[in-house]
Formats: sequence, structure tokens, C-alpha cells
Amino acid sequence: MPDITTRDTVILGSGCSGLTAAIYAARSNLKPLVLEGHEPGGQLSITTLVENFPGWPEGIQGPELIENMKQQATRFGAELRMSHLSSVDLSRSPFVLQVGKEIIHTRTLIIASGASARWLNLPSEQALIGHGVSSCATCDGFFASGKEIAVIGGGDSAMEEAMFLTRFATKVTLINRTERFRASKIMLERAMAHPKIQFLSNTTVEEVLGVEEKDVKGLRLKSRVTGDEFILPVSFMFLGIGHIPNASAFKGVLDLDEDGYIRTTNNVFTTLNGNIVPGVYACGDIQDRRYRQAITAAGSGCMAALEVEKYLEEHGH
Ligand code: NDP
Repeated sequence: MPDITTRDTVILGSGCSGLTAAIYAARSNLKPLVLEGHEPGGQLSITTLVENFPGWPEGIQGPELIENMKQQATRFGAELRMSHLSSVDLSRSPFVLQVGKEIIHTRTLIIASGASARWLNLPSEQALIGHGVSSCATCDGFFASGKEIAVIGGGDSAMEEAMFLTRFATKVTLINRTERFRASKIMLERAMAHPKIQFLSNTTVEEVLGVEEKDVKGLRLKSRVTGDEFILPVSFMFLGIGHIPNASAFKGVLDLDEDGYIRTTNNVFTTLNGNIVPGVYACGDIQDRRYRQAITAAGSGCMAALEVEKYLEEHGH
């Protein structure tokens, strides 16, 4: 027999939004269960210095910020569990969550499962993940020690990765597919001013070389201006090309937009066929394609928890 438990609220995801929701829900004595998901701690746990989270004038390391939030949530009674959602039934109340072999019943649900790194999806890239291809500079930067490497992308992630990797690599080539950089001015300028970083714009990656050797040997690149192909001899490729929302479990269950982000109205209310789904809220990067900041994720996590409280009160719990 599966274990049946009814909760006031379950939070999917343990990044900035999920943990903020957990702090608020726990302080309201709702004893939230947080399912930490595939990437515990979310994107902050694989980032380096966060300089724009209010309250830390000198910045704070992403993993430390997450650890602080976890401690703050558990101190008030949140339960964190290293597991993730398999499937969900929102047509019944309480909602039914399948988590591995366990069934959990919950009166409300906060979806804060964030977004995961995007890949180029070249067969050669996929074959070499873990063998010189990585989407996490913080995790794998050390392996680039003493090597010439490439970073793909033109946004803040790519700039941040490139800067971070200069600690290890002898040379970093940043490859952007267009001429336009999405990165903020300050981060772009920092990367451009760095003596170890060189920029290649209007250039796409056609193939990662080294599949047979099981070790990255270089990149076959193509100029989008001349159409010419050329080889860049690097030993590591880091991706910094954005993220994909982790919302596949909600396809057909909630309204998603064309890129798979959960649609919300009034910040955190989820919908199905345009109608609000009572008791189900989404916060953080899974529903935010515009701001995508730690502080906005935290803000929407707070809103989701306050809505949960209001909903439970209104329904006599
Ligand atoms: P962005 O969406 O901002 O940038 C993605 C980059 O990857 C773009 O240059 C895009 O190119 C490129 N790209 C996407 N798909 C491909 C592809 N298939 N092949 C080649 N290039 C591709 O994502 P980020 O992760 O950089 O940033 C997300 C958010 O997080 C932003 O709001 C950013 O400001 C924030 N952030 C803040 C940081 C900080 O303040 N410390 C650090 C990191 C992120 P194109 O423009 O052509 O689409």
C-alpha cells in the first residue's frame, strides 16, 4: 500500500522561489513539504558571486545564499526531501502527487521547479557531455585548468561563466551566434576588458570534435557572415545559452506558453484553458521569462505562499 499523507501545501523545487515560499509557509505553521527536485538549490547553487541580491553589499556566493535560505525554512518547520514529482492530478481536491512510489495528497501546490540549462543539441555535443562539454562552469571549471576553452552564448550567463573560467583556463573564446549581446552592459564590458577572453561574434558551432577520442579536441565553427567554416582548437566547451522551464509534468494540466513556461495571471495564479486553477500557484523562473532574477524569484515565492495561506483560510483549513 502506498503511503497516503495529506498536506496543507507542497512546494516543488528548492531554488530561490521555492525556499522563499517555504520560509513564508513554514512561518504560517503550514509545515510545507519541499520536494527538492532534480537540481537541489536551483540555479543559484551553481552560480558564483551574486552581487545584486539586496542585503549583501559585498555580494554573496550563490550556494551560501541557498544554504542560508534552507536553514531559515527548516528552522520554522519546513521539511525538505530529496525527491521529485513523477506525475500530478489536479482534477481532484486534495490534489494527488505521485512522488516515486509514494502518493501525497495536498490541499495546495506551489510550483517552483525553475528552469534547466539549454543545450545546442548537436549529436557530438551530447556525446561529449561530461567529457569536455559542460553547462556548469562552477561545477566543472576546475577541469579546464591550464586549457584553452570556449564558452557559448551572449547573455549574462555566458559572461559570468567566461569570467569565472579565466581563473582556470589559459584562454577563453566566447562564441555568440549574432552580433547582438543580450548581456547587461556592465558584465559585457567586464568580459571584453579581460585579457584572457576573446570574442567571436556571428559564429555558430557546427560540431564538437573528439567524439571518437571521448575528449573534446576542438570546435568546427561557421561564420554567419562569410559562410566559411574553421576549426577552433579548444579542450573544453561550456554552454551559457539560457534555460528551459521544468514544466513537462504540467503539459495538458495547466496552461503553458509556446516555450513551455507556466502561464500565470496576477503573478502567481495558474490557469487551465484561461480559468484560474484554485490552490495551485507557480513562482520563480518556471513562470517568469522576463525578469529571471533571484530577487524576483524570491518575491514571487513569497506571493505564492501568501496566496496559499489565504486560500486555506478561505476554505476553512
Ligand atoms: P539569456 O536568454 O539572457 O541569453 C541566452 C544567450 O544564449 C543569448 O545570447 C542567445 O542568443 C544564446 N543562445 C540561445 N540559444 C542558442 C543556441 N541554440 N545557439 C547559440 N546561442 C544560443 O540567458 P542567460 O542565461 O544568459 O540569462 C538569463 C537571465 O538571468 C537574464 O535575465 C540574465 O540577466 C540573468 N543572469 C544574471 C546574472 C547576474 O546578474 N550575475 C548571471 C546570469 C544570468 P540570441 O541572443 O541570439 O538568442
